[in-house]
Amino acid sequence: MNEIKKFFEDQGVSRRDFLKSLLKISAGATILSAIPSIVSATTLSEWKEGKRFKFDDTKIKVSEEITLNDEAEIGAAVVGAEGLLIRETDLQFTRSLERRIRTDGVVIHHVGNTDKNVNAAAIHRWHINNGWKGIGYHFIIRKDGSIERGRPLESVGAHCYNQNEHTVGICVVGNFELARPTQAQFRSAEKLIGAICGLYSIIPNDQTIVGHKYYNRTACPGTYLQKWVPDIIRNANKFC
Ligand SMILES: [Zn+2]
Repeated sequence: MNEIKKFFEDQGVSRRDFLKSLLKISAGATILSAIPSIVSATTLSEWKEGKRFKFDDTKIKVSEEITLNDEAEIGAAVVGAEGLLIRETDLQFTRSLERRIRTDGVVIHHVGNTDKNVNAAAIHRWHINNGWKGIGYHFIIRKDGSIERGRPLESVGAHCYNQNEHTVGICVVGNFELARPTQAQFRSAEKLIGAICGLYSIIPNDQTIVGHKYYNRTACPGTYLQKWVPDIIRNANKFC
């Protein structure tokens, strides 16, 4: 049992959340699935990805040594299904991704732990080091406004506790508790969100397009970006 407790502590899950989760699990299926050491690898990875338990991207360990390559542009930008120029990153995931059944919202994040102009490949590496399948966000918006592919759009992400099954995750690169997003990031965010809303017939509003803190107790996407969310919603309406 101590091992389980430690597992949840590592995930930043409080005892109350842990007990609540146990209750939910035992009501839904079998209590055995609550024990990490005996669950299947897939279920464990779902746990680690915060699909069912608390996930906070602000707790991701960011490598202190961010190399030049981590800030470089990798891959060619091509027009994706979104109708926008997206840099395809061709990231390899450690396990198979699941398909999202329904999509009715977008969650906006920042990197948080660094204000460097890191790319999708760097974030992908950090998330793998955290035990996940790979990058948890579907899109990364770099400081110059260029958009990079993270997880394939149709797959279930790993970016927002309990909300991954129905949302697309966008990470705007920077620490917006300390710095402001660039105008280029703002413009790309509204275009990208407009395109996603168009694809999935989502009406952009303050319940469908939200900062991470709307759902979870976190500073993400940072004060400066959160302030812009209403403007992003308003402008996204023009693009969907
Ligand atoms: Zn976040």
